[in-house]
Amino acid sequence: MKTGFYSDPIFLAHDTGGHPENAGRLEAIAGRLAEEAVTEKLEFRAPRPATREEITAIHDADYVRQVEEAVLAGQSQLDSPDCILSPGTYEAALNAAGALIDAAVDVEEGRLDNAFVACRPPGHHAEQTHAMGFCYFNNVAIAAAMLTEKMGLERVLIFDFDVHHGNGTQHSFEHRKDILFSSIHQHPLTLYPGTGFAEEKGRGEGAGYTINTPMAPHSGDKEYLEVFEQVLLPAFREYAPQFIIISAGFDAHRDDPLAMMNLTREGFDAMTAQLKQLALESCGGKLVSALEGGYDYNALSDCVASHLSLLQADPE
Ligand SMILES: [Zn+2]
Repeated sequence: MKTGFYSDPIFLAHDTGGHPENAGRLEAIAGRLAEEAVTEKLEFRAPRPATREEITAIHDADYVRQVEEAVLAGQSQLDSPDCILSPGTYEAALNAAGALIDAAVDVEEGRLDNAFVACRPPGHHAEQTHAMGFCYFNNVAIAAAMLTEKMGLERVLIFDFDVHHGNGTQHSFEHRKDILFSSIHQHPLTLYPGTGFAEEKGRGEGAGYTINTPMAPHSGDKEYLEVFEQVLLPAFREYAPQFIIISAGFDAHRDDPLAMMNLTREGFDAMTAQLKQLALESCGGKLVSALEGGYDYNALSDCVASHLSLLQADPE
C-alpha cells in the first residue's frame, strides 16, 4: 500500500533537554527505519505549519497567541513544568499539526492509502485553552475537526492507545457524535492525567460516542487484546467509520519508564493490524496514525518500525 511518512528536522528543534519527551525519540526512530527495508516503500513527506485558522478549530485564539508570545519572550515553560519551551517549540508544534492535516487530506483524497506522522511535540493532552503533559496543540483533534468541518465526513474514529488518557482529544469532541473517541490506557487512579474513567461516555448528542477502557497496572498483551477485540472492535464496527485516526503512543510497552504496563511489540502489532483491517472493511483503508508518547528509545523505534511495516503491507 502507498503509506505516507511525515517527519522533518523541524520537530527536533523543540529542545527539551533531558526531559523524557526529547528529540532523541525521533532520532532513534529515524535510525531504526534507516536499517529496515520498510523505508524503501514509504512516501516521505515534509510538513508545513498549520494556519492559525486550522489551530483555532480546537484551541482558543488567545491560547495560540500565548504559546507564540511565551516562546518569543524566551519563557522556559508553559502552564506546567511538564511543558518545556525552547526557541523552536512554536514552529515545531505548528508543523506537527500541519503534518497531521496534510496526512489526513492526502489519505482522504486518495493520494496515499494511509500515513504515519512521526512528529513532536505530541498532542493528545493539549486542551482548548492550555498546554498539558508535553503537549501544546492537539494534532489529532485538529485533523479530525478538519475532516468533519471542511471535508464533510460524518463519522471519524479516533483510537488512542497511548498509555495515558487522551484528555484533550476527549474534551474536544465529547459533545459530538461525528467523532467517536476511544482510549485504552492505564487506570486514571494510578497514572497521569487522572481522567478517562469508564463512566466518561460523552454528553448530550455525543452520549455514547466516548469510550474509555482503563486498564489495571501491569496489564499485558492478553488483557489488552481481550478488551480490544471483545469490547472496542465491535463498537468500532458498528460505528462504521469513514476515516480512522490513531493516537499512537507506545508508552504502554513493558520497557517504558513512565508507566506500569506490560505490552510488547506483538500487542501493539495486533491492534494495528486489526485497525487496518477495520479501515479496509469500513472506509477503503483510510487511516492516519500519529506519534504520541513512548519513552524507551529501543522499544519505541522497534514498535514504530513494525507499525509502519504493517501499515504499508499489501492486504492479503
Ligand atoms: Zn503517554
